[in-house]
Amino acid sequence: MPKDYYKILGVGKSASAEDLKKAFRSLAHKYHPDKPGGDAEKFKEINEAYQVLGDPQKRTQYDQFGSGAFDGSGGGNPFGQGFGGFSAAGGPAGGWDFSGFQGGAGFEDLGDLFGGMFGFGGGRRQTARGNDIQVDVELPFRDAVFGVDREVALTKPTTCARCGGVGAEPGSKMKTCQECGGKGVKTVTQRTMLGTIQSRVACPACDGEGEVPETPCTECHGSGIARRKTSLAVTIPPGTDDGVVYRVRGEGEAVRGGQAGDLLVHVHVGRDPRFARDGSTIRSSAKIGFTQAALGGTIDAETLDGKVELKIPAGTQGGAQFRLRGKGVPTRHGRGDQIVTVEVVTPTKLTKEQRALIEKLDLREE
Ligand SMILES: [Zn+2]
Ligand SMILES: [Zn+2]
Repeated sequence: MPKDYYKILGVGKSASAEDLKKAFRSLAHKYHPDKPGGDAEKFKEINEAYQVLGDPQKRTQYDQFGSGAFDGSGGGNPFGQGFGGFSAAGGPAGGWDFSGFQGGAGFEDLGDLFGGMFGFGGGRRQTARGNDIQVDVELPFRDAVFGVDREVALTKPTTCARCGGVGAEPGSKMKTCQECGGKGVKTVTQRTMLGTIQSRVACPACDGEGEVPETPCTECHGSGIARRKTSLAVTIPPGTDDGVVYRVRGEGEAVRGGQAGDLLVHVHVGRDPRFARDGSTIRSSAKIGFTQAALGGTIDAETLDGKVELKIPAGTQGGAQFRLRGKGVPTRHGRGDQIVTVEVVTPTKLTKEQRALIEKLDLREE
């Protein structure tokens, strides 16, 4: 059903951006569902209207195509997202649940307006998660090809070993948090441009636990988290390429009452002047003299497994490529190959005797 966003905000089609903002603020204030006489449906409608008209680009779109361009129901939605998932769940505390909100276009603006009220939808608590940590690991070329175990040294927030993350000195009892009366949440009153808004946040004194220790842990001062130097063995698998990032779950920063972040291992592979990597293929080059090129012979080719004999057939041209099977990078399906490109070296210093012989050969193409 097409909606008249101008009518919803009670303004005319020629309303300025300032008029729209004013109208939105006053209506949002009036119908805010946390207020007596609030109206969640109406509030939602006002928000939807302002999301579109408050954005000059979307407003132009709306003026041309109407609200069908935004509700996600009709085809030709130019933004590929609707506002359909916006739901007001009347939780036990009458809180709001924005988890069903899809798209997120312009959502930041709303977040700014209502501050902390989004954190505690319907009285449910979000699980805290620690930050990820990134470490850089430098590997020699060969180690990256064959894989290697590396010790990674880290100083990071870790669950306190003395109290096991509880924050209480061992043997100390827990007592009800004075700050929140054991509820774990606090109602804070914020003054915003919409007026005074009450929102519920995790109690900062007990981190939402509702209890605090009688004697805080002497190691972490009750936080349950201590910065510690740790060392972690990281297995770099065979076939690792430069720039790869491995994620080690749960080895990032610990956080009280939540799950630790991840450790991101960023691999940098050093160069080897003898080899280049091309997926599972190793590329190298070998120099041969023109006698070897003309008559054929055997050369020692460098591989990651050491030197191997490579037969050069008679009549080999410069730039010819030879395949050494199974001398490449390990993969799930076995090792790749090595490709050796032959360079024919033309002599630059000749003895009188050599010069005479070559002249006698008189090898010309034309
Ligand atoms: Zn502790
Ligand atoms: Zn508390």
